[in-house]
Formats: sequence, C-alpha cells, structure tokens
Amino acid sequence: MGESASVTSTRHEVRIERMTTSEVAAAVEQGASTAILPLAAVEQHGPHLPLSMDADHADELAIRVARELGDALVLPTVRVGYSPHHLGFPGTLSLRASTLEAICADYGASLADSGFSTLVLFSGHIGNYPVMREFEARLAAELAPLSVIVFTGSQAILDAWRAAAEQSGHGAGVGGHADIAETSVMLALHPERVRVDRLVPGYQVEIDDDFLARVLSEGLKAFSPNGILGNPVGATTSIGHACLDAVTGLITDYVRSRAASVRPLRQSPPEHVQASREEDQT
Ligand SMILES: [Zn+2]
Repeated sequence: MGESASVTSTRHEVRIERMTTSEVAAAVEQGASTAILPLAAVEQHGPHLPLSMDADHADELAIRVARELGDALVLPTVRVGYSPHHLGFPGTLSLRASTLEAICADYGASLADSGFSTLVLFSGHIGNYPVMREFEARLAAELAPLSVIVFTGSQAILDAWRAAAEQSGHGAGVGGHADIAETSVMLALHPERVRVDRLVPGYQVEIDDDFLARVLSEGLKAFSPNGILGNPVGATTSIGHACLDAVTGLITDYVRSRAASVRPLRQSPPEHVQASREEDQT
C-alpha cells in the first residue's frame, strides 16, 4: 500500500527535498515562511514494528502540520535520534545529544538564504524531547533572527494517544513505545510494515517524564525485555488515524500560539495554498 494509505500522495507537495529549488523559492515568495524540521529515531520497536517507526511517523506528522498551517514547508526528517536507552537491542542507532543539536543548528543555518522566517521542531520519538528542552534556548539564540519554535509537549502527546485509544477501550495500552498508539499509527500509514502476528504486551506503566528519566538512565531493557512499553494488542487503523489527528492538532495549535507572540499571524492562507486546498476537496 505504501503512501497510498497516507495523506502524502493526493495533495500538493510540501517536502522541500521533493521540490525543485525554484519551486521552493516560489513557495517561500508566496508566503510559505515556516520550515518544519521533524526529528525521529531509528531504534528497536519490539518484535512487531520496524526500526523506522518514529521516522515514518514524523514524516507523516510533518506533512499534516504543514498543510494545517498552510504557510509551511517540510525539511528532511532527521531520522536517527537520541536513543542510548535502546542500544541493548540490535539495529538501534543513536546520536549523541550534542550531535543532534548540531544537526538541528546546521539545518537551521542552511535556511538563512532561503527566506524562511520560522523554524519549527517536533519529534516522532518521545526520547528526543528531554534533549530538545535542553537545547531549545541555545538553538534559538544561535539561529536568530530566524524564529525557532520547539514543540516539547511529550506528555501532551501521551495524553492525546491515551484519549484516542480509549475511544475503543484501549487507553491502558498506551505506554509510549511500540504500544497501541504507535502500532495503530503504523497500521494506518504502512500496514505491510507491521508484523501483526507478533503483537504481545510489553511493560505496562503510566509513562511520564519521571519514568522516562529512569528509562534514559537505566536502559529500556531493564524494564522491558521485549522492548515494548505499553501494549500493542488491539491496534487498529482507526486508533492510528485518531492519534495522528490529535497530535497534528497539538503541534499545530502550539505553533500558532507561539507564532502569534513572535510575529503577526496571517489572517488567511496565501492564495496558492487556498487554491491547492480547493483542489484537494475533489
Ligand atoms: Zn517510537
């Protein structure tokens, strides 16, 4: 099924790496002044999900957020992230926190001559969020006058996932990693990538920032030998779509609220975006 299941194939292109340089210049000229930088991970996701889970998820969220905002383009996802707590599992890759920060700074600095006014960061990998909170102020200072907006609401994401899964009685399966939410998201985006015969419960805990700190220091394997936090059993495409919609809304709302304090908000999307949206309806 590939991209046919996602929103990516039927709408106008927002990913700069799929555009020509003149198309990027034209889009920025017509008002696409925000660049979205998705962070992710390439790390174990239990016996049933590929290591690309968070990167595939971030790819999709970024496109959805860009289209919601209407004045944004998407930078290439930084696919490998901060995952030292998953290194006990074969295949996991991890960047040092300083490397991740340096990559974000270099991406941002590259935009200086492209005309973007705002850089938005979010992550498809919960484990990047402590690093992002730590570097947020430094990155903003380094990249000024570019406005840097770092979404760091990892707890809000977990709460949104729980609410989305609870609509079908599976809220307790949310644990933040290879759980009911992530598995459902992958079923919604790339069902052929889910080993549906391998869904088993993992370590079930109400994950919060304190628990995440313990996982980061002790390693995930100490809590969950099978690499899952939460329970993927019961995953469905409809839970996946609900999770995608909810997190898209969280990030979009945050960017709008921050952007309003940084620069005047556009009253309506630029004409080319409106035109594309009208095409999308058909
Ligand atoms: Zn994940």
